[in-house]
Amino acid sequence: MKVLIVEDEKDLALTLKKGLEENSFAVDVSYDGEEGLFMAENYPYDVLLLDIMLPKMDGLAILNTLRKKKIDMPVVMLTARGEVEDRIKGLNIGADDYIAKPFDFSELLARLRSVIRRSKGKPAPVIVIGDLTMDTNSREIRRGGRDIKLSSREYNMLEYLALNKNRVIGRTELMEHIYEMDADPDSNIIDVYINYLRNKIDKDFAVQLIHTVRGAGYVLKEGK
Ligand code: CA
Repeated sequence: MKVLIVEDEKDLALTLKKGLEENSFAVDVSYDGEEGLFMAENYPYDVLLLDIMLPKMDGLAILNTLRKKKIDMPVVMLTARGEVEDRIKGLNIGADDYIAKPFDFSELLARLRSVIRRSKGKPAPVIVIGDLTMDTNSREIRRGGRDIKLSSREYNMLEYLALNKNRVIGRTELMEHIYEMDADPDSNIIDVYINYLRNKIDKDFAVQLIHTVRGAGYVLKEGK
């Protein structure tokens, strides 16, 4: 999953980025409203964490522009204590949720995850594919009664495939959801990570869950 943070308080933005990366998210950050809007319009983030008071363009104007352009990316607003009217306005123009500063990081994480799951039509935190279970809160993965340990990037990729299970995902789409904008990975990196995942998820089992669809990409599903 990939998050865009638009927040002009640099310390807060970087602390959030670090915390989210520790929880296997890919994170881009923008410190001003105009750039933030440009990024949100041009890259398919799984969630936008949007401050309200921003230089150049405020968060409500960004949200309004996105919704008018029919960009339905989930948006969680960061609001200051007391900004009740802004919260109401934000929710009324299409924000999915908000969190008031100062906030507890675990609550922010829970809200982001909840908003992302609902946007993918999977409100329950545990995703089941055959005998594979993925708990998107604890990040525990089990298959056939066995615990599976993944690196952060492997986890992010499997989570994206799992939240989109049964849908074929192209390499570019996977890349866009698991790498930061300024990352410059090798062009075959997605295939490399799919191989890592296959070794951990599928290798020891009779039924394969990760399928290659020639010329199209990959799909996580039960059966052929
Ligand atoms: Ca601000």
